[in-house]
Amino acid sequence: MSQSALIKRILIVGGGTAGWMTAAAMGKLLAPLKIDVTLLESDQIGTVGVGEATLPHIRFFNRRLGIDEADFMAQTAATFKLGIEFRDWARKGDAYIHPFGDYGRDIKGVPFHHYWLRLRQRGRAWRIGEFSAPVMISEFGRFAMPVEDERSVMSSFSYAYQFDAGLYAKYLRRFAEACGVRRIEGKITTVIQRGEDGFIEAVKTEDGRRVEADLFVDCSGFRGLLIEQTLKAGFEDWSAVLPCDRAVAVPCENAAPSLPYTRATARGAGWQWRIPLQHRVGNGYVYCSEHVSDDEAAQTLMASLEGRPRAEPNFLRFRAGKRRRQWVKNCVSIGLSSGFLEPLESTSIYLIQASVTKLLELFPDRDFRACDIDEFNRAMDLEYERIRDFLILHYHATERDDTPFWDYVRTMKIPDSLAYKMTLFRKRGVVVKYKDGLFLHPSWIAVYLGQRVMPDMYDPRAEFIAEDELEKTLSAMRNLIRKTAESLPDHSDFIRRYCPAPGTV
Ligand SMILES: Cc1cc2nc3c(=O)[nH]c(=O)nc-3n(C[C@H](O)[C@H](O)[C@H](O)COP(=O)(O)OP(=O)(O)OC[C@H]3O[C@@H](n4cnc5c(N)ncnc54)[C@H](O)[C@@H]3O)c2cc1C
Repeated sequence: MSQSALIKRILIVGGGTAGWMTAAAMGKLLAPLKIDVTLLESDQIGTVGVGEATLPHIRFFNRRLGIDEADFMAQTAATFKLGIEFRDWARKGDAYIHPFGDYGRDIKGVPFHHYWLRLRQRGRAWRIGEFSAPVMISEFGRFAMPVEDERSVMSSFSYAYQFDAGLYAKYLRRFAEACGVRRIEGKITTVIQRGEDGFIEAVKTEDGRRVEADLFVDCSGFRGLLIEQTLKAGFEDWSAVLPCDRAVAVPCENAAPSLPYTRATARGAGWQWRIPLQHRVGNGYVYCSEHVSDDEAAQTLMASLEGRPRAEPNFLRFRAGKRRRQWVKNCVSIGLSSGFLEPLESTSIYLIQASVTKLLELFPDRDFRACDIDEFNRAMDLEYERIRDFLILHYHATERDDTPFWDYVRTMKIPDSLAYKMTLFRKRGVVVKYKDGLFLHPSWIAVYLGQRVMPDMYDPRAEFIAEDELEKTLSAMRNLIRKTAESLPDHSDFIRRYCPAPGTV
C-alpha cells in the first residue's frame, strides 16, 4: 500500500452514544496513524438520550481504551448489572432472570440443564435459577467482583453496567477530546458527493462551513443522514416480527436501594423497563402503537413509577430493522443510523461496539476494497439477525392471550432460523451453537425455560449418573451457590465503597 492511499481524515457525523464511542475508540486506537479525527454534531438537533442498560462486552471496550472502571462508574452514576428480570412474559405472575453467567456445571461432558431436566421429570421442583450465581446474587440484592479461579462459583459469571446515558456521552466526549478528537458544532444541510463514483467528498453546515474527509462515519441517528438520505442503502423492515414501534421514557427518584439488574415487565401492548442507577431509576414503556395510544402508554408508565418523576415523559418513535448495507462506498453507519432493535436485551450499545471493532479490524485505505466492505456488511447482518431471533423468542414463546397484542405475537410467523432453533430445543433440549454473534448457550437456556419452552426429553447421556448421586451433586451445588450469594456485600454498599457518584454519599 502506498503512503498516499492512507486515510488521513475521518469525519464522524453525530455526537450521541454512537458518535462518541466511535470517536473515543478511533482517537485512542488509531493514534499511531496520526489521522485527523473530527466529530460534527448539532446541539440544535440533540441526541436520543436513552440507552442505559448494557451487556458485559462493554467492559472489554473500556479495558481496550484503558478506562478506569471505578472512575467511569462514578462519573456516569452507574450500578452493576448481573442480568435482566422478565416479569409476566410467558404467563402473568411468572418471573425469571436472564443472567450473565452459567447454570451449574457440565457433568461428564453433558450440559448441566439436561441433568436439571432429568430431576425435574422425577418431580424435583428446583428452579434452574437456583443453579446460577448471578441469579441468586441478584435475588439477594448483593454484589462482588467475579474471580478467575475456575473452582469457585464466583468465576461463573460476568457483569455489565446500568448508567446515565447523558453522563456517558459527556464522559466519552472528555475522553475522546483528550485523545485529540476535534469537535465541531454545526448542523449539516448538504452532503457533497464526488461526480465520478458517488463517494462522499464533504458535508456543508448551515453556517456555510465545508468539512472534507476520506472516511465518513454516519452516527446521525435514526435519520441516517449519509447512509440513507444520501447513499440510499435501503432498510430491511422487521416490524412484522418485532411490532413495537414507540416508547415513552421517564426517570424517577430512587425509592429503594438499587438492584444489580434491569427489569422488563410485560404490559398489555409491549413491556416496561426499570433501570436502577445511583441517583435515580430509568423507566420506559416500549409499545406497539397499533394496540395502545400514546396517552394510555404514558398513563400506564406514570401509574407504575416507584418514586416521584424527575422529568416530563419523553416519547420516541422507531421501526425494527436494519440497513440493507451498513457500509456503502466511503461511509460506514454506526448506531441508530445502521438499524434498530428494541432495547429488551440491551443490545444497541453492544451493536455500536461490534461495528466499531469490526471497522477497526477491516480499517480501509482510500481504495475502499469491496472485500472489506462485504465482510463488514456480512458480519453486521449476522449480529443483527442473531439478536432479532433472540428478541422474537421472548414474545412468541408465550401463553398469554389476554390482549390482541399478545395474540398477535404468539401466533405470528417467525423466521425459519428461529423456528429451527426452537424445534430442536423443544424436541430434545439442544441449544443450537454458533461462534459469531450474541447470545450463547446459557442465554438461550434462560429464555427458553423462562418462557416455558420445555423440552420433551433430556440428553440420554444424563443417565450417566445414578439418580441419588445426581440429586446429592445438584443439591450441594445449589447450597453452595445460595450460601455464597448470601455472604456477599449488599450491592448499594459495594457501590458506595467502590464508585460513589459525586453527590450520592
Ligand atoms: C426507547 C429506547 C431505549 C433504549 N435503551 C437502550 C438500552 O437500555 N441499552 C442500549 O444499549 N441501547 C438502548 N437504546 C439505544 C441507544 O439509545 C442508542 O443506541 C444510542 O443512544 C445511540 O444513538 P446514536 O448515537 O446512534 O443516535 P442519536 O443519539 O440520535 O445521535 C445522533 C447525533 O447525530 C447528530 N445529527 C443528526 N443530524 C445531524 C445534522 N444534520 N447535522 C449535524 N448533526 C446531526 C445529532 O445532533 C446527534 O448528535 C435505546 C433506544 C431507545 C429508542
